[in-house]
Amino acid sequence: MVKKVLFAASEVYPFAKTGGLADVAYSLPRALKNICDISVVMPLYSNIDKEKYEITSLGESFTVLMGGEKYPIQLYGSKAQGYENVFIYSPILCDRESLYGTPESGYHDNGLRFALFSYAIHALLKKKHYDIVHLNDWQCALAALLIHKDSVLSPKVIYTIHNLAYQGIFEADILESIGIDHSYFTMGSLEFYGKINFMKAGIAYAHEVTTVSPTYAKEILTSEFGCGLEGFLLFHQAKLSGIINGIDSDHFSPQKDTALIAAYNDAKGKKPNKSDLLKKLKLKGVNKPLFVFVGRFTHQKGVDILIEALPKIANLDCNIVLLGEGENRYHEACDLLMAKHKNIHLTFGFDEQFAHQIYAASDFLLMPSLFEPCGLNQMIAFAYGTLPIVHHVGGLVDTVKRLETYQPDSCWGYGLVFNSATSRALLNAVKKGYEIFEDKKHFERIVNHNMRCDFSWAKSAIAYRALYEK
Ligand code: ADP
Repeated sequence: MVKKVLFAASEVYPFAKTGGLADVAYSLPRALKNICDISVVMPLYSNIDKEKYEITSLGESFTVLMGGEKYPIQLYGSKAQGYENVFIYSPILCDRESLYGTPESGYHDNGLRFALFSYAIHALLKKKHYDIVHLNDWQCALAALLIHKDSVLSPKVIYTIHNLAYQGIFEADILESIGIDHSYFTMGSLEFYGKINFMKAGIAYAHEVTTVSPTYAKEILTSEFGCGLEGFLLFHQAKLSGIINGIDSDHFSPQKDTALIAAYNDAKGKKPNKSDLLKKLKLKGVNKPLFVFVGRFTHQKGVDILIEALPKIANLDCNIVLLGEGENRYHEACDLLMAKHKNIHLTFGFDEQFAHQIYAASDFLLMPSLFEPCGLNQMIAFAYGTLPIVHHVGGLVDTVKRLETYQPDSCWGYGLVFNSATSRALLNAVKKGYEIFEDKKHFERIVNHNMRCDFSWAKSAIAYRALYEK
């Protein structure tokens, strides 16, 4: 029988995106829509373009009672993606400049906002039957607890951890305002070193817990990567598994990408895109290797290591392009570097189209992440014929094979892999890349091989399907 699934996430491409969660919440339901009846629910943030995405009112509104306060909710919907998208609108949740606030602190009432999102998900489950509810990250984790304590509702709950570093931790006095009884303030439930941890609700009360790569599923059971939840995860280990993310092969396709000046399907086809980008950024030397970084400027992404290594990388005969937004201290450090080195170009901000142009133009993608639950950038890089240079950690272990082990008939993507999260190790890997780049034929052979590999959801959708069946 076809399962009815409600897939909940705080961001979904193309409506709202700050990172990989949005890509996954867009592409996984697309990959699953032929094998189950899937609806995706997210907040209707005020800057989402309703007209563009054909989002209309469903004519339903109700009130959520949370912690003695009444919160108005309106439901919106769109079928423009080929399946049902449901949007939750409530002023406190949605009327903001950005999704979560600044990377340094976030909005002061994020706990309340996303508790309300969980209550709204719970209300949807009351209105309509779903066999499975698939919750993602801390922003909707509390819904697992609300379902657990509801004596009438009985959907199976899957909870996916996209990044354990963001757990939704709030002061203990939030309990009252989110209408959760003090009996849940225990180690086995929401309590976390005297505070409240939303992610614990997802882990404790879901029937299955997944994370986004097999390696990360193992790493988070250790104190090095467990962010304080390793013991709790070990306790719930029997229901924990790792399923690697995929990328949407239409959205990330150099053959179909409308953001590019020239579509292409092999290494040679990249050149017009590279020339165009360099010209736009006033950089010189289309034959020099182009190293890029696209991502959040946070400690996690190895930005400290990158900043330390950049002056030495810039001394090589190459160009460097960085695109990202995040913590101010990184912005300032990168600004200084750009002022000093004419071959470094930095763009602050979030720009989907520009990111695609960078992937298409570049020769190497730098990913010195200290930890990486899965990482999509390296898979996007493969698709666009860009060689990833990655730290051997998390999902990067599962997706990037060492170039030294290259086998032409394999279905693996190859890149330069370094073992320790240091600027020296990154620099050495970059130098190796630089040498390989000189051997044009070999370089193109690897690039063409990577471009032919399959990083779509095909395999992982089967794994999720099996989980849904279970
Ligand atoms: P994260 O930890 O940020 O979720 P992922 O590798 O899983 O990292 O996914 C990052 C996604 O966000 C990719 O699609 C990447 O291209 C995109 N991205 C990251 N930063 C930017 C940016 N500044 N502008 C445009 N796209 C970005």
